[in-house]
Amino acid sequence: MERDDCIFCQVISGKLPSKMEYEDEYLAIFWDINPQAPTHLLIVPKKHVSRFSEFTDDDFDLMGKMMDAARKIALKLNLNEKGFRLVINEGRDSGQSIFHVHLHLLSGRRLMWPPG
Ligand code: AMP
Ligand code: ZN
Repeated sequence: MERDDCIFCQVISGKLPSKMEYEDEYLAIFWDINPQAPTHLLIVPKKHVSRFSEFTDDDFDLMGKMMDAARKIALKLNLNEKGFRLVINEGRDSGQSIFHVHLHLLSGRRLMWPPG
């Protein structure tokens, strides 16, 4: 399941260092190396799926776990007080740069809308 050429698979296996915030059997949550906001966490399934659209019906629970973890970490860090944003980039036009699906959790500053 792990892809040797995938940066996030290497973070998950510990081959690459990271600032890990939370980990369980299914998910890893670590701090973005190039943060776009004071709080910028990545919620990453341990299973390698390249893009959001490649999730299958079998991944329904996993997708739920990602959202649930995002909610819990937002509450734990009190991000709900001022607000936060969840983002998944997919494909060229979104700027997706790591092809192992991940949910961005951004908070700690006023975020623009529409996004740039
Ligand atoms: P995306 O552009 O949606 O594919 O997001 C990829 C994110 O991963 C970017 O925000 C990068 O800064 C971040 N990133 C890349 N390499 C690492 C790494 N080794 N550890 C933590 N975050 C990373
Ligand atoms: Zn991967």
